[in-house]
Amino acid sequence: RPAITLTGVSKRFDTGTLALDGLNLRVAEGEFLSLLGPSGCGKSTALRLIAGLAEPSSGTVTREAGASEIGFVFQEPTLMPWATAFGNVWMPLRLKGVGRRQARDPVMEALERVGLQDFAGAYPRELSGGMKMRVSIARALVGRPKILLMDEPFAALDEITRFRLNDELLELWRKAGWTGVFVTHSVFESVFLSQRVAILSARPGHVVEELEIDEPYPRD
Ligand code: ADP
Ligand code: ADP
Repeated sequence: RPAITLTGVSKRFDTGTLALDGLNLRVAEGEFLSLLGPSGCGKSTALRLIAGLAEPSSGTVTREAGASEIGFVFQEPTLMPWATAFGNVWMPLRLKGVGRRQARDPVMEALERVGLQDFAGAYPRELSGGMKMRVSIARALVGRPKILLMDEPFAALDEITRFRLNDELLELWRKAGWTGVFVTHSVFESVFLSQRVAILSARPGHVVEELEIDEPYPRD
């Protein structure tokens, strides 16, 4: 059964830009889907609509998860510079009223999942780009989301870090099995990470092709 359904979704901004035009998309529960397409084709817009951060101009968006059950990883790490890695990952729980003591186990577990258990006390300025992105992923995972949305999360990273994080993300997903939508303009990333790739037309955005990837890239 679909966890996310977009039916005939269009989005026109006040500026007159038509970012999406009749987008149809279904993501099954536990599926990891990549949205692939060139810059400006509406991928971020589609992701924001799925997250409920924006409303479609027409069409419908439905998702089998409450707002608090959605994790969002942005292109930039968007960490609070004045807070440690622990503080940043704690933030979404803190907003729900979870105190530091109560947050300790889930926060440390999330940091451990991205291999940063030894950096809980480090500030963003002390971390590399890849580590900051790992903290962002831990922050998205700490609330145990049903749906994880990622908007070109590795775009700003060097190739080697990017490759490592792709590998780690695939491993995390295999263990946790959340429903994932991954926005990218990298053909490699989309094929490596996901079970299905939806390709958007340049503009205005709608799905022009869907590829089933039987097996994610074989490992071990
Ligand atoms: P992508 O993520 O594929 O690069 P976006 O969804 O960011 O594409 O943008 C799709 C189109 O909509 C682009 O032309 C972009 O400039 C435009 N756009 C995105 N957000 C806004 C906004 N808030 N207001 C006006 N235009 C926007
Ligand atoms: P991405 O590269 O992740 O798609 P963008 O650089 O397109 O992101 O957009 C970054 C921010 O600027 C978003 O909040 C988006 O909604 C907004 N934005 C993008 N294009 C426009 C635009 N033409 N007019 C106003 N806001 C825009």
